[in-house]
Amino acid sequence: MSYLYAYSLVCTRAFLIDLYHTVAMCPFADLLNHSSSSAHTSLSADDFVCHKCGSLRECEHDIPSTSGIVRRLEHLSEKELKRLSTEPDTVDLRIDKRRIRKGEEVLNSYGDNMGDGRLLTEWGFVEEDSTGGVISFSVDELGTGAQKWMEMVQAGEMGWADQMVHDDEQLIGPSPEERPLGLTLDTEGVMSVHIFAVLLLGQTTQNDNDTVKRSVEELRNAWSASEEEDFEGPLEMTRTTFAAVGEAYKLLETRLASLNRSDLRMDDLYEMRDVSGRTGRSEQAQADAQSLSDDQPLQRMALSVLVNERRLLETTKEKWSDLLACIVCSEDI
Ligand SMILES: [Zn+2]
Repeated sequence: MSYLYAYSLVCTRAFLIDLYHTVAMCPFADLLNHSSSSAHTSLSADDFVCHKCGSLRECEHDIPSTSGIVRRLEHLSEKELKRLSTEPDTVDLRIDKRRIRKGEEVLNSYGDNMGDGRLLTEWGFVEEDSTGGVISFSVDELGTGAQKWMEMVQAGEMGWADQMVHDDEQLIGPSPEERPLGLTLDTEGVMSVHIFAVLLLGQTTQNDNDTVKRSVEELRNAWSASEEEDFEGPLEMTRTTFAAVGEAYKLLETRLASLNRSDLRMDDLYEMRDVSGRTGRSEQAQADAQSLSDDQPLQRMALSVLVNERRLLETTKEKWSDLLACIVCSEDI
């Protein structure tokens, strides 16, 4: 009990700082409640630190570039570079003073477009007006390619992924605008290219940007071709892309299996959420629904989140499964 209590205290209050320091407790900042739509404050840290030693300034792990400024810091303006050389690395709570009226509660944002599921699992609540719905994955879930992907991000090589044109009909695409570099499944079931990149990098010894780009192109073309009316298949696919498609499918399957109450049928979940004395529920759902009376809006909200996430994961998994049925590997595995 005491361990779980302490663990939940940390989990519900810690902030993600950067790739090196990961999460940290930030006294005072954690007092504020969250709002996605009308936050007055935001916690910010320079997040382009070296992921090996945490240095904000140039360090021995940096990749030199022709501009004379190391690649990790290349995107900064001259003014910002000067600031780095004189200021220590800090975490700041920035306040937008103009927007706070006297007597008004000061609200913080725990992150943009967090998605209901994440708010619920990490902080234990869902906003009443929330329409998020984006599903996030952590690098730990994505396996061995994460390290290589982080190095590529650090070297400024993955920017193109978020510049891609978003297409609802595709399997992969850019992260949602509010979540650059996000490891996300958006509300249309489009998986971010970054997830696919991590899965792919786990399947190959190549770790150059071109390999990822080629593979992304190959996947998108294969999907489009398989969707053509006169498609007769099967499509040949290179070994790495083929393996990454299998990994993407497995990822969705694993997340689905890990959802709360994955033992229940979708219909039962709907019934539990919309409990209103209707008959025809399975016995299990009836038993569960008895504890979900009308004065428990939070539980109902949690069920809504669960139902939405499960539906999105299931429809997405089906698309990847359709693709798997149309492709063959063109090389020896
Ligand atoms: Zn370093």
